This record gives sequence, C-alpha cells and structure tokens, in this order.
Amino acid sequence: MQTARVVIIGSGPAAYTAAIYAARAKLAPVLFAGQKAGGQLMWTTEIENFPGFPEGIKGPDLMMNMMAQAQKFGTEIKYDYVTAVDFSQKPFKIWTTIPKGQVADTLLTTASQAEYAKVREEIIATEPTVTADAVIIATGASSIMLGAKGEMEFLGRGVSTCAVCDAAFYKDKVTYVVGGGDSAMEDTLALTKFAKEITVIHRRDSFKASKIMQERVLNHPKVKVMWNTAVKAVKGDKFVTSIVVNENGAEKELPTDGLFVAVGHRPVTTLFKDQIQLDDHGYVVTRQSASKLGVEAASKVMDEKNHVMFPTMTSVEGIFAAGDGVDVRFKQAITAAGQGCAAAIDAERWLESLA
Ligand code: NDP
Repeated sequence: MQTARVVIIGSGPAAYTAAIYAARAKLAPVLFAGQKAGGQLMWTTEIENFPGFPEGIKGPDLMMNMMAQAQKFGTEIKYDYVTAVDFSQKPFKIWTTIPKGQVADTLLTTASQAEYAKVREEIIATEPTVTADAVIIATGASSIMLGAKGEMEFLGRGVSTCAVCDAAFYKDKVTYVVGGGDSAMEDTLALTKFAKEITVIHRRDSFKASKIMQERVLNHPKVKVMWNTAVKAVKGDKFVTSIVVNENGAEKELPTDGLFVAVGHRPVTTLFKDQIQLDDHGYVVTRQSASKLGVEAASKVMDEKNHVMFPTMTSVEGIFAAGDGVDVRFKQAITAAGQGCAAAIDAERWLESLA
C-alpha cells in the first residue's frame, strides 16, 4: 500500500492546477486521473477564453499541457479511477479496486447510490491502494445529455454544452438551445450576441427558469420557442447540418448550424456520499460554496480577523475540493483552475498547521 501526503482525485483544470501547486510545494502529490484523463475539455475543440492563448487552444492540448506541467514538478499520475474512499479517520484511505463484473466509469457516474453502496462494501474489504494525509477532490461534473441519436458523435462539431464558451463560433448562424432552466436562458442570451436565429426547444409548455431570465428570452427579437418538443436525432457530415424533433407529436427535420444542450449538470460525487457533506444535487459543500450551505459552513470557521479559514475545505478536516463538482454557478475551465490552486494552497497550509 502506497502512502502519500496529498492525493488529488480528478484530471480536469482544477485537478491539474492543484497538482502543479502541490508539487511545487514539494508535497509529491499522487493524482488519480481515471482511465479517460482530461475531463470535459477533452470533448471541446477550440478554447478561446482561457487566458494566455490569444489564438485559442484545442481542449485536449490544454489538458495535455496542464498534465505535463504537473508532472514536470513531480506529480505522480495514475490512470486509475478511485472507486472508494474512507474519510472517517486519518490517514484517509483510497481504493482503486474494481470488483469483478463492474465497469468503474459506469459505477461512478450512472449507478444509483444504492447500487454503488453495495459494491463499495466489496471494495473496502480489500486493502486500500493508497493512504493520504490530505485529499483534494476535483472530480468535476458532467453535462446531462439528451440521449438523441448522433448527439455524442457531433459533440464539439456543432453540438455544444457551453454557450458561454462557444457562442462566438456561431456568428450569423442558425442555432437551437434545449432546456427550460436558467442555463438554457443564459445560453440563449449568450447566443443572441452572435447567432442570427435562436430557437429554444423545451419539452413542456412553460419554462422553469427565473421569471426575469424568461422575460429576457421571450422578449428578444432573435429568439423563438418550440414548446412540447423533444430532439430525437442530430444529423450532419463533418459538422451538424440538421436536427430531427418531435413537436407535439409531429416529427420534423430542421436545418441548423448548432445545437446547445442546456438541460443541467450532474456532479461526479457518488463516491463521496456519506463521507463529506454534499448538497441536495450532489455538489460538494465547501466553505466557499456559493450557496446557503457554503455560507453556513464558512460562518463557523472565521479566524480572529473574520477571514474564512481554509475556504476550500469540505465538512471533513483535511479533505478539500475544487472545480465543477463544487461550483454550481460558473463551471468554466479558468474558475476550476483558480479553485484548484486555492485548494492546493489550503492543503499545504493545513498540513503545515499540524506540524
Ligand atoms: P435545471 O435543472 O434548472 O433545468 C434543466 C432544464 O432542462 C429543465 O427545464 C428541464 O425540463 C430540462 N431537462 C432536463 N432533462 C431533460 C431532458 N432529458 N430532455 C429535455 N429537457 C430536459 O438546470 P440548469 O442547468 O438550467 O440550472 C441549474 C441551477 O443553476 C439552477 O438552480 C439555476 O437556477 C442555476 N443557474 C442560474 C443561473 C443564473 O441565475 N443566471 C444561470 C444558470 C444556472 P423541466 O422543466 O421539464 O424539468
């Protein structure tokens, strides 16, 4: 069994940035990247809003650069999924065991909590893979997809899950946004600055988004809405050329340049249930979570200057978290990277405070 000062779980911008900082602090971090290292940015093409790349950079290239930078300073990268953790006592225990007949990826992202709990029993009966004095959770979130035919095939080639990132590529184009929540409204408004036509597709006959966002969308001259409509398929060649929808029972094919899927996110945190505090949607609560729970946690740990101590710490001392699995609000590569930096500095200072 390996022992580590700091273990980082994840392989997106939060995880790699935490690794760069922890490694440069001589904490020799061990980073579990999973078998498909790189996170959500591996699915994007051009990234134009990450500072430092005025010409833009491809998502996979950015992630490879971050990984190389983390390794350069001594991060040990393991391409395994963490399948169970025990944060109930120190040092913290971490397993990568995959019981026979299980697929780690599926177990961690799509299994129900009850299914996972059963398998966890089997995993923790084995010897832990590594123990750690501090852990940084950066497992991220995944966009909920529609399950429409062709949707994954065209992801990054006309299908997007982030209008804030990709709207500028749709100047004077025809686009569709799916969803009825605030994300869909925000994506639609982001697209109005570039696209010539935006149609919101929603499965019901009313939005659930906040009234003010709904009004902005419904009153915008470039925006149309298709109610009671579901996307069935995405078609194209190199890029998307059309979508097939079912509107009030009638199937039709609509030409388009882009489809923005904005039906919510799912934090990848099944692993941490019952180990640290999660909110009702599964997001990790830290002392800097932008939510009531975060504010409550922060208010209990002020120092004498009224500063929040170790803002990236979770409900368990020594367990820190950063990135999209914490962030209900922004979910950008740069915000995740910033939080990863903060988590590593917090972990370093917390470990020092014990010495
Ligand atoms: P939400 O869960 O709020 O909304 C998801 C929307 O997608 C719902 O309208 C839902 O339909 C629809 N949907 C879900 N699954 C499917 C599916 N399989 N097929 C078709 N449609 C589907 O997620 P958001 O990401 O919009 O928001 C998450 C949180 O973040 C919210 O609390 C929101 O307020 C907040 N947020 C706030 C913003 C702001 O204040 N500016 C901006 C962005 C997010 P149905 O309505 O039928 O359930």
